[in-house]
Amino acid sequence: MPRALVTGGAGFLGSHLTDKLLANGYEVVVMDNYVTGDPRNLAHLKDHPSFEFIEHDITEPFTLDGSLDRIFNMASPASPIDYQQIPIETLEVGSYGVQNCLDLAKEKGARFLQASTSECYGDPEIHPQVETYWGNVNPIGPRSCYDEAKRFAEAMVMAYHRAHGVETRMVRIFNTYGPRMRLHDGRVVPALMGSALRGEALTIFGDGSQTRSFCYVDDLLEGICRLMESDEHLPTNIGNPVEMSILDFAKTVNEVVGSSQPIQFDPLPENDPKIRKPDITKAKTLLDWEPTIDLRTGLMKSLDYFRARVTEETEA
Ligand code: NAD
Repeated sequence: MPRALVTGGAGFLGSHLTDKLLANGYEVVVMDNYVTGDPRNLAHLKDHPSFEFIEHDITEPFTLDGSLDRIFNMASPASPIDYQQIPIETLEVGSYGVQNCLDLAKEKGARFLQASTSECYGDPEIHPQVETYWGNVNPIGPRSCYDEAKRFAEAMVMAYHRAHGVETRMVRIFNTYGPRMRLHDGRVVPALMGSALRGEALTIFGDGSQTRSFCYVDDLLEGICRLMESDEHLPTNIGNPVEMSILDFAKTVNEVVGSSQPIQFDPLPENDPKIRKPDITKAKTLLDWEPTIDLRTGLMKSLDYFRARVTEETEA
């Protein structure tokens, strides 16, 4: 049975990835320090015979007993609220954390995949963003702890690939949403779904003309797993290229929830990217991958989860 390590596996994406790997016949070890993760995301796997959880901060050196075939490094705070509260930890997990995982990949002869991000492109000057674009990132702004950590991580991955011949993969993830996101992590999907379900106004930043493209979690993970099994070591965008304004997104949330909450406009935060859309030509060609779940369907699939979390919050 192949064996995989998922760091950050108690988080939103990592826990879904763990489910998928188990379903695909992997033995899975999850490592997480719960800094932004939630034990409830893995509670259903407690008695699964192929699942193991290790509570550990990956910025501290570690090893594992036994063989290891794949490492998916998903560990990092990912929402602006999270990483701006713990900027030093975010830089550490993107540097020491990534290096510790790469050392383990080298020791075990395991293939390593780094969860990188569209934030590597910063506030992009080209649209849509293609993998060969080097980005427009403010190295000292409030988002720099995340953006530069992720850019450093990519450099470290390339260095291990070149200097040590480690088999590496890099996915540049664009905005992804779905069940298990935290209601108050500051990302636009849980924020607006939460407000609509509570019967509150939907707050958007700026005039709402900035655009985003939203990918449903199942689509993203299919792309990530295909990339891991491909031969491509250079960064590959995975995301949904259907672009919409934040204002239209808020209207869609109202429709999906069946609410008609007013939309409230707040000032735009510093360095908020104005446009974001992946060019997925590479993933289509190389991996025969493209998203299959449209926004409305994905939001409907997430509705019960967000409703349950809002109910829980109201009852607490
Ligand atoms: P998340 O916050 O839900 O999950 C991150 C997980 O990493 C958490 O469980 C957290 O506890 C764990 N973690 C953080 N630091 C750690 C450390 N030092 N040691 C061990 N565990 C640690 O975020 P997510 O949305 O699931 O994101 C997962 C990965 O995907 C991140 O690397 C993120 O940068 C990347 N990503 C996500 C998106 C998205 O839209 N969700 C977009 C781009 C990139």
